Amino acid sequence: YESIYGIYGASGCGRGVAPLLEWKLRDESDVKIVFIDDANHEKDVNGLPVYSYEEFVQFDVETKYVSIAIANSRVRQKLADKCAADKLNFLTIVSDQHVRMKSIKVGVGGIFSPFTTLTSNIKIGQHFHCNIGSYVEHDCVVGDFVTFAPAVRCNGNVHIDHHAYIGAGAILRQGTPDKPLRVGTGAIVGMGAVVTKDVEPGTIVVGNPARPLEK
Ligand code: UDP
Repeated sequence: YESIYGIYGASGCGRGVAPLLEWKLRDESDVKIVFIDDANHEKDVNGLPVYSYEEFVQFDVETKYVSIAIANSRVRQKLADKCAADKLNFLTIVSDQHVRMKSIKVGVGGIFSPFTTLTSNIKIGQHFHCNIGSYVEHDCVVGDFVTFAPAVRCNGNVHIDHHAYIGAGAILRQGTPDKPLRVGTGAIVGMGAVVTKDVEPGTIVVGNPARPLEK
């Protein structure tokens, strides 16, 4: 085969992403899809072989692609840095059931699960995970290594910084062009939270309306 496609992480996230890639490449005869996992030593996961990273980089094929299918954004960045240093190509995986409108910029390495939507005038960084049924509305800016669990509703004029994690079913209130709603770097928004105000970097907010979690 000419190209090999590695899905890094053979756990929950990776097993959700692999079928999207298998479907995309269904008519290609000269490609191989594998999982890359450093701790999972099973031979086969859902019909795909599993290799360690060291084994993967040693494959003697012309082009190697990688998708980092691991929800933890710090791990994702660490592995992305390693793959970049080895000059691997980052894949962007987009479900056929993804809807994308106009004027959208997305960095490398993104994963767009089924029933996700990006409307118009949106800028998204690298290695964004946009899980099942999530949307990003107009004029949003999303940093690098941001993670959306399923069914996140990110309304217009919201700015989300690097490494933020937005839990399942959370709703982010729309901002305005002069005063976008901001979610700071590394912040965590809990499941089902209704975010009506800016979220400070590194904080965890929960509830409706979302408030910082008391330690
Ligand atoms: N993993 C890896 N190398 C690393 C860190 C993690 O191969 O440096 C693998 C780990 O062995 C596991 C997967 O990534 O199989 C992460 O799975 P987990 O269930 O923690 O997260 P999820 O699939 O939900 O993102």
